[in-house]
Amino acid sequence: MKTSLKSVAKSNLDPSDETVEVISITHWTDSLFSFQLKRPKSFRFKSGEFVLIGLRDTTETLILRAYSIASPSWDDALLFYSISVKDGPLTSILSKINPGDRVILKRKPTGTLVLDALRRGKRLFLFATGTGIAPFASIIRDPMIYENFDHIILTHTCRMKRDLAFGELILELRKKDLLLRDLNIKKLKYFPTLTREKFVNTGRITALISSGHFFRDAGIGDFSYDTDKAMVCGSMEFNKEMASILKGKGMKEGSISSPGDFVLERAFVG
Ligand SMILES: Cc1cc2nc3c(=O)[nH]c(=O)nc-3n(C[C@H](O)[C@H](O)[C@H](O)COP(=O)(O)OP(=O)(O)OC[C@H]3O[C@@H](n4cnc5c(N)ncnc54)[C@H](O)[C@@H]3O)c2cc1C
Repeated sequence: MKTSLKSVAKSNLDPSDETVEVISITHWTDSLFSFQLKRPKSFRFKSGEFVLIGLRDTTETLILRAYSIASPSWDDALLFYSISVKDGPLTSILSKINPGDRVILKRKPTGTLVLDALRRGKRLFLFATGTGIAPFASIIRDPMIYENFDHIILTHTCRMKRDLAFGELILELRKKDLLLRDLNIKKLKYFPTLTREKFVNTGRITALISSGHFFRDAGIGDFSYDTDKAMVCGSMEFNKEMASILKGKGMKEGSISSPGDFVLERAFVG
């Protein structure tokens, strides 16, 4: 499916659509890219939320998909981290955007990976696979997280080393964030694991948790339901497995209306 990005900007939009300018795009691998959009002044969101992003194809059909916002709520630009699915209706077009092009940004960010959906605790675990790192890229640059938890443990499971590059960049950016300057950002422990390449941590995080290797290799104690809280973002299968592990430790799933010990968000549908 082909589209002219210029035509996207000029196509007949619903009144609720807003097109915003692309500031930059970075291709990390053949199938992973990130892009920054100009943030409309009135666009507000909580770190960890997702929003609908879209384009119109040549037949003027609006293609909208959910995207986690990967920048923190205080940032001037909106950062997104995306897979590129071969023949994917949206990403086969979106992966070809250039600075100056425009994409549609729907105005209602939402999602459960927000602090409000968790009870207070001491340790916060952030479990991501693949592009599921996107909401956590936002969260780990939000001062609130360092004010609310004593320890934050971010795990990211990917296939290959190159798939970790975006997450590693965010960890570097975080060191330079002025808003985090007076906070103890060393509270964050990063635990990357790879499933298809030899690495310092190899294997699926769920397996490493079940075997106890995760706690041993990260140098931390086992889950404790009264002090630990968790956010999970990955495939449906991963989320299910993590939910089962966390429930097995006595932790309860939460939501904004009923905060709990852990929350889940799917990184994609399918
Ligand atoms: C709450 C939520 C948040 C999301 N946030 C992001 C995000 O931050 N970044 C992102 O890249 N995608 C995200 N997605 C997925 C996104 O909405 C699209 O599915 C994706 O951009 C592909 O769009 P498409 O139209 O090209 O292909 P689609 O027709 O939407 O997808 C085709 C197939 O590709 C696979 N797929 C889609 N997305 C992914 C993915 N991220 N990782 C692995 N496999 C995938 C699935 O098997 C899917 O059936 C999110 C989805 C949900 C529900």
